[in-house]
Amino acid sequence: MYECSLERMTDKITTFSKFGDAGHGGITRYTLSPEDIEARQEFQKRMEAIGAIIEVDDVANMYATLPGSDPNAKRIVMASHSDSVMNGGNYDGILGVMSAMEVLETVADQKIEHKHPLTAMIWTNEEGSLYPPAMMVSGIVCYDYLPDAIKEKFKYEDMMKSVSMVDGEDTFGAALERSGYKGDKKYRLCPDNYKAMFEVHIEQGPILEDAGNSVGVVDCVKGMFNYRFHFYGQTVHAGTFPMPKRQDALFAASQTICYLHEEIDKLGYSDLVYTTGEIVCHPNIHTCVPDHVDFCIDVRHEDHGVLDQVLAIVKSCAGKEWAGCRCEVKKMWNRDTVYFDEELFGYCKEAAAETGYKWQVLHSGAGHDAQFANYVLPSTMLFVQSKDGFSHCEPEYSTPEHCTEGATIMLNAVLKADKA
Ligand SMILES: [Zn+2]
Repeated sequence: MYECSLERMTDKITTFSKFGDAGHGGITRYTLSPEDIEARQEFQKRMEAIGAIIEVDDVANMYATLPGSDPNAKRIVMASHSDSVMNGGNYDGILGVMSAMEVLETVADQKIEHKHPLTAMIWTNEEGSLYPPAMMVSGIVCYDYLPDAIKEKFKYEDMMKSVSMVDGEDTFGAALERSGYKGDKKYRLCPDNYKAMFEVHIEQGPILEDAGNSVGVVDCVKGMFNYRFHFYGQTVHAGTFPMPKRQDALFAASQTICYLHEEIDKLGYSDLVYTTGEIVCHPNIHTCVPDHVDFCIDVRHEDHGVLDQVLAIVKSCAGKEWAGCRCEVKKMWNRDTVYFDEELFGYCKEAAAETGYKWQVLHSGAGHDAQFANYVLPSTMLFVQSKDGFSHCEPEYSTPEHCTEGATIMLNAVLKADKA
């Protein structure tokens, strides 16, 4: 068993936390922004220092590769993203990049023999927080292998036209041209040149901390669906119109949300999660009764059968009258549970067991680049404990010790894949 360096990992965490430092403990590092480019330059500098070869593909993904003993062997890649959400933390995404770098640095430092070339990779625009959607660039690169219902959201031409959430004018395509990181399509991750992908990520939930475990070996990304509810009422004056005669679309929506919670909770699945995180109210004026309200519901569980039960409850809301308002329910999208490669999952479990660290098997509730990569080549993930389960916010934190343990497990799992 080989071990990564706590000291070197801590130094990377401190250094990368400066790129996009928002001044109160977290970062804002939009993809291909000057801050992201600083992170990319640091990645390149540190990887070139250990003799890795740098390549950049046409959608700004960066690859740093240490050659192996067999020049014809396919590469084993470790990857995550360098971008963040607005006022995000110092770990989401970049921890996977730093872990990949740490593995390469340990291999170089300890002169660990390996047959396959080992690659540390930065995925561009995973968050999609400036140019939506999320997982944009893994969607582009993995496009040919994705299920039809997913791939239609990631057409290259459409992605290049994705408009900035900040100014409503700038596009991802323009940012790519400006960045100096539009490389060559021939370098894209593909099954001809790559054998396997590993991704370390923060857990973004409290399960590991509650169980007292530092690392999660991830078996799948949970299936999910997203439906949109629409309520149609009538706008009248807030001061003049009697309560019994109103058709208040917001009141109807709130009744429905309460109904959904009651009915879905009755199913009794403790690991089922569902969320209404967005609501639109028209005309959204304090003197008007709302005439149109719509909201979404996002539901996630590993088991298709459980999702079907929730879907039946969701669909049952349509057609009924809610506070005198008509209700429509429309499917936005869904995805089946994505199971990671069993062999790689096995190497991670073996490596975790050999280290003596505290670990467990986990499902992923969030989407990650590895989920799309898994359609292209065998892939898997490791999660590192998140303090209080926080992510996408400035208090997001993982201890340097836990981060180093995650990298160590990945290193040993990668070496098992190298030998296989
Ligand atoms: Zn992430």
